[in-house]
Amino acid sequence: MVILITFLFLTFASLGSAAPASRDRVTSAPAVVSNEQVHDWLHLWQKRLHLEDWKVEVKIVRIWDLEQGTLGHIDWSVPHKTAVIKVLNPADYELPRDRVPADMELSIVHELVHLHLSALPLKEVLA
Ligand SMILES: [Zn+2]
Repeated sequence: MVILITFLFLTFASLGSAAPASRDRVTSAPAVVSNEQVHDWLHLWQKRLHLEDWKVEVKIVRIWDLEQGTLGHIDWSVPHKTAVIKVLNPADYELPRDRVPADMELSIVHELVHLHLSALPLKEVLA
């Protein structure tokens, strides 16, 4: 019985130490910003920019889904009052981890400002 308990203990002890090691081997950086967080920012800034009558979606995308050198993108339809915002996945950011969330929020604001201006005739110039 003592042998069995010792065996179980060693088994659990080795499982316990294996977990952090296997996490270290993951090559892609873990997301530091959740989908929930980007949706919260979206709703907050939609309200602040008086864009509540727009149906806006926000998606966290990989670097290959954005134009080179950009951190975000927005497509919109004025007649439908719908828009889709894409923001760069934290895994593809070159900033220090702690600076990524604020930058993603700023990207959402930047893209919403495009939408804010979309009703103006200058739209083509500003896009
Ligand atoms: Zn822009």
